[in-house]
Amino acid sequence: MKKWTKAVIPATVALSMLAASPVFADPQSRPNGPYIENEQNVSLSSFMSNQELYETLQKLEASAKGKMKLEIAGYSNLSPDGYQTDKDKGEPLYVVKFGEVDPTKKRIFITTQIHGNEQIGTEAAIDIIQKLSSNSAEVNNILKNVSIWIMPRINPEGSDNLYQEKWYPTRYTHQTWLPANIQLPENTRAPWYYNSDGSERAQNNNGRVVYGIPGYDQNRDYNPNLDFRIENYDKTTIANFLNNRSTNNSNYGGFFVTAEARTVSGVFKEFRPDVFVDVHHRGFNTVSDEDNRSVPMQLAAVVADPYTDPFTGQQYEVDADVLKLGKRVNALAAQSLQRGFSHFGAVQKYPKVNLPGTALGTFALNDAAIMLMEIKGQSQTLGQKQAGMLKETVKAPLYDLFKALADGSIHNVDPAVYDAIPESSNRISDPTTRDNEKDF
Ligand SMILES: [Zn+2]
Repeated sequence: MKKWTKAVIPATVALSMLAASPVFADPQSRPNGPYIENEQNVSLSSFMSNQELYETLQKLEASAKGKMKLEIAGYSNLSPDGYQTDKDKGEPLYVVKFGEVDPTKKRIFITTQIHGNEQIGTEAAIDIIQKLSSNSAEVNNILKNVSIWIMPRINPEGSDNLYQEKWYPTRYTHQTWLPANIQLPENTRAPWYYNSDGSERAQNNNGRVVYGIPGYDQNRDYNPNLDFRIENYDKTTIANFLNNRSTNNSNYGGFFVTAEARTVSGVFKEFRPDVFVDVHHRGFNTVSDEDNRSVPMQLAAVVADPYTDPFTGQQYEVDADVLKLGKRVNALAAQSLQRGFSHFGAVQKYPKVNLPGTALGTFALNDAAIMLMEIKGQSQTLGQKQAGMLKETVKAPLYDLFKALADGSIHNVDPAVYDAIPESSNRISDPTTRDNEKDF
């Protein structure tokens, strides 16, 4: 029996409990398509609650005989620099460390579940942590040459979110915009990625449920200026910036208002990884009109253009060698998934975006080669269906990457293989009104 901190969780989370009109104006493109129908249940019972995740991590550390260090990097409501969003500290944000900050080693940093409704990355991360804790010669050789830090589930509040007493994982964090708390005028507009009503995607209710706890899209709250702290700037300047739609938008870095983004950035600054991987979930595509394999994974090595900090004038761009390594990392991942004519190999490139406020965008602009991994489906659209296969699409490439970083063979991978990965196409549209291609 699973243990839960916040609620009793049903064996299946019945989205039909939302009971509203079953009619969609624009149904998905084919019957029995990947998106669930209105009355279908989405099962999440195999996924871990926060409490289960923490217990699992503690057990793994205990059995790893010192090989793995488990630390709390911060809390969802309290970041290391003392920025506090509530009286409670919130949920712990764990970092799992295999190896220290050693300049003679390659360093890779992996985060999962920055969006709370994207669980499979975390499930895969646990399997990877378990494997790295083992005592095989191959693992020992990897860890002799590579330090690997993993933060599984960096949005615990969204992950354990409830709607009408039931488990309803959500993209957003839990946090209320309180400008007066950071000495801004009371009426200062929130950052554009604030979800003020606490709403989330659904398969009915015109694609939307309101669970009522405001929060942020953590994956827009990062800033290429890793030291940006809203409370350190002139308050009138910040208020004017937020109150102006031409500056309060996705072309600019975020405001580091979440403790989660501050905590993760703190770990990044401590570790300074060569490679940063962020695992997400997305929608559904087939390969092409001729090839109807369902795309399990989209990848990207680039998500941000050169950037100028509007407050300091400081310029940021992705270094050419960093970009080359990023392409090699993504190319290796794509190659690692080729297994004959199977669904595993049906990878595509993520659509081109410029999002400096994402963790990947911010860290790429701070000298980390990046890989965006986008698994198909989310809590609200796929549940745990195909979870085993989809976990494998995360685990296999990452393990191959560890080996290639350890023996240096990553530098033999041709970056042109990345350029040749098919572009995103043949998208199956989401029948809800929350359809958005560029939402990693
Ligand atoms: Zn995501």
